[in-house]
Amino acid sequence: MHEMSIVQGLIAIVKEEMDKSGAARLRSVSVKIGEMSGILPDALKTCFEIITAGNEMNGAELNIDIAPLMGYCKKCNKEFKVIGYNFSCVECHSSDIDIISGREMNIVEIEVD
Ligand SMILES: [Zn+2]
Repeated sequence: MHEMSIVQGLIAIVKEEMDKSGAARLRSVSVKIGEMSGILPDALKTCFEIITAGNEMNGAELNIDIAPLMGYCKKCNKEFKVIGYNFSCVECHSSDIDIISGREMNIVEIEVD
């Protein structure tokens, strides 16, 4: 399960932030994951619970937001939402496109006490 290593990376960042601000308890973490990042939200939650159990992050909430897959057409300069993995421009149907978002994972917010 590659979600485990993703959560470990996430926790490392959260821990660094907590140390920096001298926070004692983690309340919640909000992340945004791309539709095509290959990350399964349920697996991510499960891994998060396993890793945070028993440490200062115990009981923290993980909020997950899904970022849609967005494409950019190099032919007509249009940005569009890729639906149903149809990788061609909605406007001119060119397949000469770039994926501009939907494959990433970002931390949006960290809430601590
Ligand atoms: Zn186009």
